[in-house]
Formats: sequence, C-alpha cells, structure tokens
Amino acid sequence: MNAFFPDNKLVIATHNPGKVREMNDLLQPYGISCVSSLELGLPEPVEDGATFEENALIKARSAAKESGLTALADDSGLSVRALNGDPGIYSARWAGPDKDFDLAMRKVNDALGDADDRGASFHCVLALCTADGQTFAFDGEVKGEIVWPPRGDKGFGYDPIFVADGMTQTFAEIDPVEKHAMSHRAKAFQLFSDRILSDHNK
Ligand code: IMP
Repeated sequence: MNAFFPDNKLVIATHNPGKVREMNDLLQPYGISCVSSLELGLPEPVEDGATFEENALIKARSAAKESGLTALADDSGLSVRALNGDPGIYSARWAGPDKDFDLAMRKVNDALGDADDRGASFHCVLALCTADGQTFAFDGEVKGEIVWPPRGDKGFGYDPIFVADGMTQTFAEIDPVEKHAMSHRAKAFQLFSDRILSDHNK
C-alpha cells in the first residue's frame, strides 16, 4: 500500500488514448489500477499555464478534484533555444488543426533561418496531485539539436528533426526501444518512480 494511492487507484488525467496506454503499461508492474479522465467522463480543463509544469499541474489538479482520486498528468514538447523556447507548450498547436507535423517542423526550421545556435530540448513534465491537494512535478529533459531536412519514419511529432546530444541519428531513425529508454518521458517517469513509487508494495 502506498500513501499516494489509496486503494491502489490512480486517474490518468488525459483524454489521449495513446498516453493512457503508455502510462498504464508503465504503472502495471506496481499493481496500481488506472482509469482515465476520458473513461470517468471528467471535463478537460483549460490549459492556460505558461510552462509545461503549470499545464501538467492544471490537468492533474482538475482530475484529482473532480474524481476524488490521486491523478497523474503530463505535458511535453520541444523547446528551441534560439526561438526563446518555442514552440514549447504550443508544440502540438504549431501543427495546426490537421496535426500536420511536416508543417510544424518546417515552421521550426524557417524560424531558425541560418541561426548558428540550433540547440533544442524535448521536455516532459509529469505532475501528480493527491485527492487532498498535495502536488509533485517531475521534469525530464533531453538536450540536442535541430537538423534539416527531417530524417526517419519511426517516431512522431518533431522526432525527425531532433538529434540528441552524443547521437548522430534523429529520434525518428533510432529504434523506438532505444528512444523510450532515454527519452524525456522516460526521465520524468524515472524521477516520478524514484520519489513516488519506490516504496510501493513495501
Ligand atoms: P501534449 O503533451 O499532448 O500537449 O503535446 C506535446 C506535443 O509535443 C506533441 O504533440 C508533439 O508534437 C510534441 N512532442 C512531445 N514529445 C515528443 C516526442 O517524444 N517526440 C516528438 N514530438 C514530441
């Protein structure tokens, strides 16, 4: 039994089935039973925070308040240094209503122009909120640079234009197993696991 999860239950605060599946898989070994905001019919809060952390906390707080259970939410995206962190929290929106990431990647490259600094990071913040309002946030980051033209077809979103430090292939060229072991999401989950899950079932 873990103090953060009364009855071993958790709400995954998202309406995105892909995220639900991914988090479910990660939490299964801990014997935590997950249900999503979508399944519970919870409303989607307005994500009007200024940072990944604020938006993740908005989603976690809202789901915890509405469900009376501990809630876990994430917010992620690509921050480009020479663009003052853009697209950042607007990473999904840069792809427009058609979720056109070829367009979004082109926008990033056009905005960079011939800038010497092509440094960028992927971020993922996982936020946890308990039913009594305690909050925690865990920030996973992978640093790298933007390349052009896009390369590879194994990833999603901005993967084809991102090469992590110390690598030569883009995130869309490497084996997904390799990406999942070192990604911003994996790092955030590791921090969450070290702090929140480590003594689960003790
Ligand atoms: P959100 O976290 O659902 O708000 O969306 C984050 C957006 O950031 C996604 O739609 C992707 O465009 C981008 N993103 C986040 N993580 C990754 C990744 O691992 N690879 C490529 N793009 C990502």
